[in-house]
Amino acid sequence: MNHGKIYVIGIGPGGQEQMTARALHALEQCSCVAGYGLYLDLIAELLEGRERLETGMTHEVERCRAARDAALAGKTVALVSSGDAGVYGMAGLLLEVCGGSPIEIEIIPGITAACSGGALLGAPLSCDFACISLSDLLTPWELIERRLRGAAAGDFAIALYNPASRKRTDALPRACEILLESLPPETVCGLVRCIGREGESHRLTTLGALAEQPCDMLTTVFIGNSATRVVDGWMVTPRGYRGV
Ligand code: SAH
Repeated sequence: MNHGKIYVIGIGPGGQEQMTARALHALEQCSCVAGYGLYLDLIAELLEGRERLETGMTHEVERCRAARDAALAGKTVALVSSGDAGVYGMAGLLLEVCGGSPIEIEIIPGITAACSGGALLGAPLSCDFACISLSDLLTPWELIERRLRGAAAGDFAIALYNPASRKRTDALPRACEILLESLPPETVCGLVRCIGREGESHRLTTLGALAEQPCDMLTTVFIGNSATRVVDGWMVTPRGYRGV
C-alpha cells in the first residue's frame, strides 16, 4: 500500500502575505489539513475543498495521531502551526508520534513571532538572544525561572513567548521580578500583539514598567540587552559597529 506524506507547515504569524512560497506550494499538494481551528481559520481561503482534521488547542497529541493515520491511509496531509512549526510548534511532536512509521515527512519553516515581531519594533534581536516561553503547561515554573536568570546573566536580549493566557495572568509580572533582580529597570522593552492579524499593535516600554503592560496569549514581549536603545522610536540592539 502507498503511504501518504505529511508536510509540517509553519504559516507565519497571521495572514497569507507572511507565508513563504514553499508553504503555499506545500498546502496546494495536500488533500487534508490538520491544525488548531484558529490557525486554520487564518488561512481558510487556502483550504477550500480540503478535508479538515480539526482538534482543540490542547489536543496536540491527538492532532498528530490524526495526521499520521490519514497519511498511513495514503493521504497527503498538512499539519499547520503558526509561526514556525519547530518553535513551540508541533514539528517535534509529529516526528515522535510518527517514529518508526514509513510515512514521508517534510518540514517547511515559517516566520516565527520573534522575527515578525522584532521587525515591527525595529531590530531588538540583532545580537545573541534567547527565546523563553512563560507557559508552565509543559515546563515546570522553576525551570522557566532558571532560564530567565541565565539569559539575564548572559546579557542576552530575550523574546518571551506565551507571556499570559486567560488563566495565567501573573507569569509576566513574575518574570519581570526575576529579571529585575539583575537587570536595570531602564532596560528597553517592547510588546507586539496580533502580528500580521487584525488589530496588530506594538509599543515600547521599560523593564521597570513592563509588569503593568496589558498582555495576553497573542502578545510577544521583547527585552533588550544592556546595549539596547531607542532610535527614532525603534528598538535597536546595536551590533557594535563603530563610527555610527
Ligand atoms: N510556533 C509559534 C509560537 C507558538 S507559541 C511561532 O513560531 O511564532 C504561542 C506564542 O507565540 C504566543 O503566546 C505569542 O507569544 C507568540 N505569537 C504567535 N503568533 C503571534 C502573533 N501573530 N502575534 C504576536 N505573538 C504571537
